[in-house]
Amino acid sequence: MREADVDVTVVGGGVIGLSCAYELARHGRTVALLERHERMGEETSTHNSGVIHAGIYYPNGSAKAEVCVRGKAMLEERLRAWNVPFVQRGKVIVAQSDDQIPTIERLKTIGDANGATGLRLMDAKELSGLEPHIVGVAALHSPSTGVMDVGAYLRTLEARAIEAGAMAIPGAWVEGIDVGRDAIATRTAAKGEIVSRALINAAGLYADDIARMCGEERFTVYPCRGEYATVIARKAHLVNGLVYPVPGTLGLGVHLTKTVDGELLAGPDARYIEGKDDYESGRRNARDFAEEARALCPELTPDDFRLGSTGIRPKIYGPGEAKADFHIATQPDDARIVHLLGIESPGLTASPAIAIRTAKLLRSALE
Ligand SMILES: Cc1cc2nc3c(=O)[nH]c(=O)nc-3n(C[C@H](O)[C@H](O)[C@H](O)COP(=O)(O)OP(=O)(O)OC[C@H]3O[C@@H](n4cnc5c(N)ncnc54)[C@H](O)[C@@H]3O)c2cc1C
Repeated sequence: MREADVDVTVVGGGVIGLSCAYELARHGRTVALLERHERMGEETSTHNSGVIHAGIYYPNGSAKAEVCVRGKAMLEERLRAWNVPFVQRGKVIVAQSDDQIPTIERLKTIGDANGATGLRLMDAKELSGLEPHIVGVAALHSPSTGVMDVGAYLRTLEARAIEAGAMAIPGAWVEGIDVGRDAIATRTAAKGEIVSRALINAAGLYADDIARMCGEERFTVYPCRGEYATVIARKAHLVNGLVYPVPGTLGLGVHLTKTVDGELLAGPDARYIEGKDDYESGRRNARDFAEEARALCPELTPDDFRLGSTGIRPKIYGPGEAKADFHIATQPDDARIVHLLGIESPGLTASPAIAIRTAKLLRSALE
């Protein structure tokens, strides 16, 4: 095998791969970022709610909790410095009956311990002061939860990574990885081969395929689709910020999100699907979102909903299996390879902190 072209090859140009490339390049590493599409961020990174999560839901001590809280602070600092639009609209998790109150109390305890800031329980009166058109018996308020312009962030992040010296290579479909003793050769369909000293697998829904190419066979990514409806502009004023029910078993429950542009989204729901690129088959009818949304905001009617976009979560646990944490780790038999798997929500929020963890994991391999 020829000598390494770069220190690190990053497979996947979503927000995670871009964040890793930026982090490494700005600390003097040479990086090649390989993305199969002609543009960066075409998959999950641009098919999400754009919410900057506070870190409420994730088990204390989990990687999700740690990188979410740390990532949020870093992300907001970056958004400010780079003039990318974001708004701290605030979020309420609404108990719709008395028997849901212990759940929001438990979420507050977990969120406080995770380091989510400013969480406060409110009664129905306070809730209606904040969100006059939302009904509930009580709520957990997270004032610092925000929404961001994801497209603008990804474009800026890519530009910053390139400015810092990273080589971003679109149209580079990784087909094979040859893990040699002295170097790692990553073969692409149309952009030749890159030889590197280390490799980061940030391939999202396809990270299990890339892991297998490296000899790591343990993972399966289960695609889990989340569908959205949009609420007609005339009714968007019914919600001021982000309004969630108490979370369900698979996702956070169909919620209402006022985006950074002032559009009101309902969703996403959560459903395991077969195809990792199946964004559209068997879509739910827009009117079907009305029932869950109306439980929170009764002034919405079925006619107020239009079909929205979809996104696909790269879960590493299948139907009926226990929830899994983010997998952020070196390959057990090779410290030069980091696999990032199961980076579902809050992956966007956590992305700067995931990049820092990943760079740390590679430090000794790059010495
Ligand atoms: C419905 C939904 C809502 C969400 N809402 C939020 C939210 O509000 N807030 C939040 O913090 N997080 C949210 N998330 C999570 C967040 O979107 C993800 O965690 C994040 O986008 C993951 O980024 P990624 O870079 O790992 O994956 P991706 O964006 O999927 O990037 C992986 C890249 O790898 C490339 N790739 C794959 N295989 C190859 C190959 N062989 N060769 C070359 N390139 C390859 C793909 O083309 C892709 O561009 C949501 C996710 C979903 C699905």
